[in-house]
Amino acid sequence: MPDRLKNPVHILLVDDLPENLLSLEALLRREGLVLLKARSGPEALEILLKQEVALALLDVQMPEMDGFELAEMMRGSERTKRVPIIFLTAGTTDHSRRFRGYEAGAVDFLQKPLEPDILKSKVEVFFELYRQKQHIAAQRDALQSAFEENVRLLNESRKYAEALKDADRRKDEFLATLAHELRNPLAPIRNGLHILKMSPNPKIADEVRDMMDRQMTHLVRLIDDLLDVSRVSQGKIDLRRERIALQDVINAALETSRPAIDAGGHSFTLDLPDEPIPVNGDLTRLAQVVSNLLNNAAKYTPDGGHIRLTLTRDGHEARIIVTDTGLGIEKDMLPRVFELFTQVERNLNLSQGGLGIGLALAHRLVQMHAGSITADSEGAGLGSTFTVRLPVTDLEGVAPEGVEPAAKAGAPLDVLVVDDNRESAQTTSWMLELIGHQARMVHDGMDAIAAAKATPPDVILLDIGMPGMNGYEVCRELRKHKALKDTVIIAQTGWGQERDRQSAFEAGFDHHVTKPVSLDRFTQLLGDIQGAQTAADGPI
Ligand code: ADP
Repeated sequence: MPDRLKNPVHILLVDDLPENLLSLEALLRREGLVLLKARSGPEALEILLKQEVALALLDVQMPEMDGFELAEMMRGSERTKRVPIIFLTAGTTDHSRRFRGYEAGAVDFLQKPLEPDILKSKVEVFFELYRQKQHIAAQRDALQSAFEENVRLLNESRKYAEALKDADRRKDEFLATLAHELRNPLAPIRNGLHILKMSPNPKIADEVRDMMDRQMTHLVRLIDDLLDVSRVSQGKIDLRRERIALQDVINAALETSRPAIDAGGHSFTLDLPDEPIPVNGDLTRLAQVVSNLLNNAAKYTPDGGHIRLTLTRDGHEARIIVTDTGLGIEKDMLPRVFELFTQVERNLNLSQGGLGIGLALAHRLVQMHAGSITADSEGAGLGSTFTVRLPVTDLEGVAPEGVEPAAKAGAPLDVLVVDDNRESAQTTSWMLELIGHQARMVHDGMDAIAAAKATPPDVILLDIGMPGMNGYEVCRELRKHKALKDTVIIAQTGWGQERDRQSAFEAGFDHHVTKPVSLDRFTQLLGDIQGAQTAADGPI
């Protein structure tokens, strides 16, 4: 039942004689009805100020203010002008004195002595009328709130539709940018291949190879960023936190970003404090954040600008501040640059490329370190400042988490490379041989099992997506054989999501690496395996 209908109905009784009030009260008392008694006009008006009533029963003859005067006053006020009135008069009815508002309706006269039944039934009529009024008001309230709810839902669905449209537009823009960004490094790589095929002189060949290496690194970084951003948005990035000095983070970032700064002909100032600033962080991820800021500074500053990196400490807060003298960012865009796929629209000839994910990723990674990242700029053309704030750690000597033992040199490993893509298998084998191992190649799961059973290798580098038996099935099968119990099986795949790693470990793989695997990664991974084998064999 709506609240309004739970409320009792109020009726006002006005008479200067208390005994009359009492007998009226006794006569009219019933459930759901509250009788408000007043002994004079002013007292009645005071009650009416506070309480809405369904009916007023007014004695006509009262000292000070008679019933008619009171009624006149009630009709004069917006709040009470529609309250029905029944006058109670003694003696003969004086028509000339009848209330002027009679024609307004809902006014009645009852002669004293009162007929109890008549009075009761008249009051009942007004009681019911008032109840109906309450019902209608409750229905109106319900309709009003349903209407408001509908308007709210409509606005909300409009907002969602807008957001969807916006997301759809951003997705289209993103796909176009992605295609563009992937094509950018692919074009020089293909050109490089053509040049190499024409057997140029060794100097040019070296330069072309360096260029191809740089472009490939760029391509791999783009794809890594894409995968990272997807992992981050699903909360699937694990930090390997340890006590590290922020100076080391900055040096690692500089190693990555120096070429971009130099390529832009920018001058660079590094302002580091002497005292190491310790944080509990993931060195690789924090370096990724700083390097992102430095790359952006280099990218969004016209050639020959100035970039400065300052590291400071203020109590328990460390600050890494990257400032440039570049294109700057309009005020309204400042908070938005950390949103995914946001790129400040600029004059096309200033367009610098990128996917609009770097800062979103940096933002999330800093947040995961309980820190914050902010952007500042005085406006277009006035340079930008990015500030990363991180909590300084008080923990002394936290043991590094997840750090592998240093690789020890050992005997060459016998590696079985399994990949249905022959070129991928061939180039991987060459790489392995170049770093001093022996490689054998097979191109499907059945051959892999047969080859491994015939001569158990030290390491199996196994592709996942293969026709016939996939890598997981092959790995499960291999693990059934006693002779292959100690063989290190590495999943080498283009699927780099956390759940892919998980599936690989569940199938019995020891390691999971995503393609393309760099020579450094192979050297480190196989070196670690060699080291572990040497340690297990013990001193000779
Ligand atoms: P991307 O550089 O790939 O476009 P980011 O997420 O790194 O993506 O940056 C988002 C946007 O923020 C950039 O497109 C650029 O418009 C703006 N931005 C980032 N860093 C700077 C900077 N140092 N100066 C001016 N604009 C910047």
